[in-house]
Amino acid sequence: MQKHDQDFIKRKNRTTVFEIIKNHSPLSRAEIARLTGMSPTTVSRIVAELDHLDFMHEIEQETTSVGRKAILLKVNPKSVLSVGVEIDKTAIRIGAVDLDGSVIGGKSIARNAEESSEATLGSIAAGINALIDDERLDRRRIVGIGVGLPGIIDHAGGKAVLSAQLGWKQADIAGLLKERTGLAAAVDNELKVKSLAEHMYGAAKGSKRSVLIGFGSGVGSSLIIDGDIYRGESNSAGEVGHTVVDPGGLRCDCGKKGCLQTYIAEAALIEQASRVKPVASLDELFQARRDGERWAADIVDRAMAFIAVTIGNVACMYNPDTVILTGKLVERYPEVRAFIAEKCMSEYVWEPLRGTFRIAYSAFEQDGVIIGSGLLAQGRFLDIASQIEQMEQN
Ligand SMILES: [Zn+2]
Repeated sequence: MQKHDQDFIKRKNRTTVFEIIKNHSPLSRAEIARLTGMSPTTVSRIVAELDHLDFMHEIEQETTSVGRKAILLKVNPKSVLSVGVEIDKTAIRIGAVDLDGSVIGGKSIARNAEESSEATLGSIAAGINALIDDERLDRRRIVGIGVGLPGIIDHAGGKAVLSAQLGWKQADIAGLLKERTGLAAAVDNELKVKSLAEHMYGAAKGSKRSVLIGFGSGVGSSLIIDGDIYRGESNSAGEVGHTVVDPGGLRCDCGKKGCLQTYIAEAALIEQASRVKPVASLDELFQARRDGERWAADIVDRAMAFIAVTIGNVACMYNPDTVILTGKLVERYPEVRAFIAEKCMSEYVWEPLRGTFRIAYSAFEQDGVIIGSGLLAQGRFLDIASQIEQMEQN
């Protein structure tokens, strides 16, 4: 056999064994041999290599027969890391993410709302280097960076095509981060990465078809089918905020009239409230409703009805098994959750679809984008054979 053929097989076998332990752990060497069809000798050799470099651990487990202990193998979740980044209008959040989706050393950096993409990416690069130092992370184990942000994202090219919230156009996020950190970066819309986190380790774990809907500064959604993010032709699938619900309605930021988000987005609600009485925040608007102010009740009640309408419409379009709700409007105000629990399924969802899906809330809330971005980077850049070779060389 040629040398490069042998190398190819060696790499392939290492990857196969690692993947099997990762996806089926804990399991024994004998089970790996059975599942892969490799000889016990080959399996033992590869397991020894992985163990030596700390990619997996042995654990002892009692078997059913009295007193016998089986030696099982389990991937070390901290042996492969990525960095997850969330860019918001006024803050950047960074954390290392392990194979189990746990966050290590999360930190928040203030961002000037008017800041250019270059300035923000400079802060991110510095933040990542500080995170690696502070947490004493082994750079060789970091496979890449994942970035989640609001806007239309060119996922394949690693660019923000347009982020109205951040004021960015055609920002080369992956290129700049690679230049400043030496790490490859995967970039996506914040709701898309959040839905990935929920699918892998959160509220939609085990789901075949889930939709995450975000009700925050805008309204958007992300669909996951059989584990993959559904992107559409230009990665814009799920932009429900700009579906028109009233052709004669209010003017939206996008220039159209009566977009869904003119009835639900935070800024739109505050603006509508301010026409009656100066209101600085959603908290004040909800407080006015609790105090029995009629105008506040009208605005909030209409927003809640449109949240329920959105859930019903999304169910009609995608027929999901799980709908996950996230964003300030549904996470911060118990009256919104109560309304959804009481009325959504029975009054707003088309009758044949009632009970065909469950409505859940984000399991991660604040950390969802960091975790999802980190997992996105692992999915894109993890190449365990190369990782092992890199570790062996050092
Ligand atoms: Zn619009």
